[in-house]
Amino acid sequence: MNLSELNTFRLILFALALTLTGIFETVWAVREWKTARWKRWVFHGALTIFNTVLTRLAALGPLLIWSEYVRNQGWGLSHKFGITGIAEVVSTFILFDLFDYWWHRWNHTVPFLWRFHKPHHMDTHVDVTTSLRFHPGELFLSYGMKAIWILLWGPSLLGFMVFEAAITAYSQFHHSNIDFSDVWEKRLRWLHMTPRLHASHHTVSLRTRSANYSTVFLAWDRIFGTLREPDSVEMKELGLLEGRKTHLSPLDFIKAPFVSAANRKLL
Ligand SMILES: [Zn+2]
Repeated sequence: MNLSELNTFRLILFALALTLTGIFETVWAVREWKTARWKRWVFHGALTIFNTVLTRLAALGPLLIWSEYVRNQGWGLSHKFGITGIAEVVSTFILFDLFDYWWHRWNHTVPFLWRFHKPHHMDTHVDVTTSLRFHPGELFLSYGMKAIWILLWGPSLLGFMVFEAAITAYSQFHHSNIDFSDVWEKRLRWLHMTPRLHASHHTVSLRTRSANYSTVFLAWDRIFGTLREPDSVEMKELGLLEGRKTHLSPLDFIKAPFVSAANRKLL
């Protein structure tokens, strides 16, 4: 597949996962809708268009050129080990999901990074539109980080784009306002992050917010000791204590990383 075919695949998967999870959470909503849903779709939809124009086009293009350059130079561990074909696509997927776990964890533990990740957590509800809610500053920082991963590993274009498309779809799935029966929750957790566990990562309570960082494979939270079960009291309040009334204000959203002394605290 060439780049434009891979981009089309990414776009189709994005639209399909957004539509399906949007339908599922309409039919099987687990949490009560406290804000008009159309307001959430308009705000997060407009933010997605803004982010796509500003950061994805400005950062993703250079990142793909960079990955091409790294490959042509024969840099990265995948070249050193001679990993190619389907083995390379699968190992890129697993390894980048591991990197993503640490990147997400650092976004919560390094005060400078938390400034930019915080606007995502200021959402007082968690549904599929929350998966669209990222500050452009966080996207720029994460693309910068991915440039380092690419240098370390040297993935193929296919491996990298499959990972990018899949984590977006997974993020839409685990942010959605749905829940599974305890039996299915247990089964899904053998391998995956679930909507229940990810919603608990969005609690006001720091105990569960400083946990459950995995995007796709739950193994990372298990291995690094950050898998934490929420209780029903913690699950009652999602988001952060600050900015609850203005969480759908464009200006407050953009300003959030740069204002208030509270930024220095990991709250
Ligand atoms: Zn987070």
